[in-house]
Amino acid sequence: MTELIFSEDSYLKTIDAKITKIEGNAIITNRTIFYAESGGQPGDSGEIRLHDQTLKIIDTKKGNTPNEVLHIVDSEFDRGLVGKDAELIIDWEKRYELMKMHTGCHILCGIIEAEITGASVGFQKSRIDFDVDPNLLNKEELNQKIETIIKDDHQIFLNEISGDEFKNNPQLVKSAVLSPPVINNKVRTVQIGTSDNIIDLQCCGGTHCLSTKELGSVEIGKIENKGKRNRRVNIRFKND
Ligand SMILES: [Zn+2]
Repeated sequence: MTELIFSEDSYLKTIDAKITKIEGNAIITNRTIFYAESGGQPGDSGEIRLHDQTLKIIDTKKGNTPNEVLHIVDSEFDRGLVGKDAELIIDWEKRYELMKMHTGCHILCGIIEAEITGASVGFQKSRIDFDVDPNLLNKEELNQKIETIIKDDHQIFLNEISGDEFKNNPQLVKSAVLSPPVINNKVRTVQIGTSDNIIDLQCCGGTHCLSTKELGSVEIGKIENKGKRNRRVNIRFKND
């Protein structure tokens, strides 16, 4: 069991933890700020610092249970580290790019009303596939909406609902292919905008920004045809 600190605070760059288990080339700790690959968002990289050595973490993956996080080490390491104190440090620049991109994907979900059939969050660009009538997608209009939402600086709120509430509110899952993690009978919700003006509201266990203005400049790139009603909408940072 790993306490998922990134879930409460996505902005922590470093945290103290204790090593609880070693599994193959992975280190498991009692708490972590490393996001494990899921929901289309890549895992974090960074370092685990011990008093006498530093281990490079090249990726983070989910373990056997929803809240077991595997910090993947790049090389052979001492197997006797269980019980040792460690400092976890994430590659913040990379994570922050992903947080902005991930938040951009939520904005896209908020302005395109359609079921999601796929998603991938990347550093410079990301994409979401929608089951949508292509005639409903006007790139210029969508870009205008994204620009306005970023400029208006909407706040982003995290909340939790119970497993039962989650089951009774299927509209909170917008994806046909991804399901948010249910941990200790709780599911996290992410809401862009205040309750009187909600841009997007859905269940998601990923890492997000706290306000839309942080995204800077994001725009839609290509809209690709991936089947009869399947449209792949790419977003990227605008290079001014
Ligand atoms: Zn999300």
